[in-house]
Amino acid sequence: MIPVSCGEIADAVRGELVGVEPTAVVDGAVVIDSRVAEPGGLFVAVPGEHVDGHDFVGTATAAGVTVSLTTRPVEGCPCIVVDDTQRALGDLARHVIAKLPDLTVIGLTGSTGKTSAKDLIGQLVRPYGETVAPEGSFNNELGHPLTALRATAATKYLVAEMGARHMGDIRFLSAITPPAVGLVLNVGTSHIGEFGSQDNIAIAKGELIEAVQPGGTAVLNADDHRVAAMRSRTREKVLTFGQAPEADVRATDVKIDGEGRPAFTLHIGAFSGNVQLQLIGEHHVSNALAAGAVALAVGLTPEQIADGLNAAQRVSAARMELTERADGVTIINDAFNANPDSTRAALKSLVAIGRSRGARTWAVLGEMLELGDTSQEAHDAIGRLAVRLDVNRLVVVGEGAKPMHLGASLEGSWGNESVFVETIPEALELLRAELRAGDVVLVKSSKAAKLRSLADALLEEQ
Ligand code: ATP
Ligand code: MG
Repeated sequence: MIPVSCGEIADAVRGELVGVEPTAVVDGAVVIDSRVAEPGGLFVAVPGEHVDGHDFVGTATAAGVTVSLTTRPVEGCPCIVVDDTQRALGDLARHVIAKLPDLTVIGLTGSTGKTSAKDLIGQLVRPYGETVAPEGSFNNELGHPLTALRATAATKYLVAEMGARHMGDIRFLSAITPPAVGLVLNVGTSHIGEFGSQDNIAIAKGELIEAVQPGGTAVLNADDHRVAAMRSRTREKVLTFGQAPEADVRATDVKIDGEGRPAFTLHIGAFSGNVQLQLIGEHHVSNALAAGAVALAVGLTPEQIADGLNAAQRVSAARMELTERADGVTIINDAFNANPDSTRAALKSLVAIGRSRGARTWAVLGEMLELGDTSQEAHDAIGRLAVRLDVNRLVVVGEGAKPMHLGASLEGSWGNESVFVETIPEALELLRAELRAGDVVLVKSSKAAKLRSLADALLEEQ
């Protein structure tokens, strides 16, 4: 963190100094895990589900932190005592960000693709200025301020992924880091159980667009009507991306190769250039265009954007990870997480890869969680989609995913086959017996449905 005195921190978080001088300075990392606490840093004691951060204030103090944020004094440890440490962490981040006027905050949200787009944006802008972007999916009320607090006077870009489970979440996060550029990727159905409807999800995501700062830019998806309509929620400049003809940053001639990597022609104003992505799945075209539009908003040229997209690598693990086994079976591990949008995208990629290789395709799918009342219908729709896309074999794993199997079976004249199994070992047994050289197998489910272990087992068998 930039150097800030304890007195100033106490004012910013409305806390009380206990056992520490107001002139003592914090100039090290702000952490919530005492194992990574460092001299001069600040430890935030967060009450967790299993452990209470207050039990580790002593460890953090021994590691040399200047002070800890706590809800009660801790014997022998310098503390700033507040009523709620999570709120105080947000207040501190807001205070520090406000002291960095040269920082350009890029905020992004969406139902699907946030981490992918964040990684692409980071790779595009990093050559043009020091960039702070969270690792992985650090997008909630703890991860977001912790990421923001990594920004220093030397930082030019802060790329902040914002997730929402409730109305107001994005407003809260964007108040901590007021965005110069606000990007909404899409409005899907993830967490619809919490929100009730897709229109409500749009209301929640659009809070980011309302937070775009004067002189800033809202970046909107021209292919998603709920996102495009967010134009009315800002007076600032709007840039759009997509395959729609009116989009400012646009793709035409999208093609997918045998490895599932998309290529397209990028159009920005009068500029046209070829882009070959190294990422797997057609949905990354949209993420790449979004990243390109953000880069345009912060001043990169179309040429720099095309070069950056061509060079971009995949960053986060277990998303559409494609591995060919020694026996010629290809496994696409996308078992990191799943919702209806990402599952649709993954099925389309599977079929595109299968088609360009002339290969037999398998979709091994587990439950998509957090869908509330829409769960049965959503699983049914995925089963039917697998039929319509002509996936050769569908293996549905686990009771919660069963409506996929029923949907596929009801969809009708499909010459292929859907199988339902209760457990991962049963799925593994079936696949072991039937997979043959050349087959392409997609494995996907929500994290909690644990199909990742199935993908790992399939990969160990080479
Ligand atoms: P989380 O809410 O878990 O943080 P996220 O919004 O950050 O998710 P990613 O981690 O980038 O999203 O991608 C999640 C999954 O969605 C992956 O399986 C990925 O392949 C797929 N995906 C990424 N972008 C899109 C998109 N634009 N449309 C559909 N699916 C996508
Ligand atoms: Mg994410």
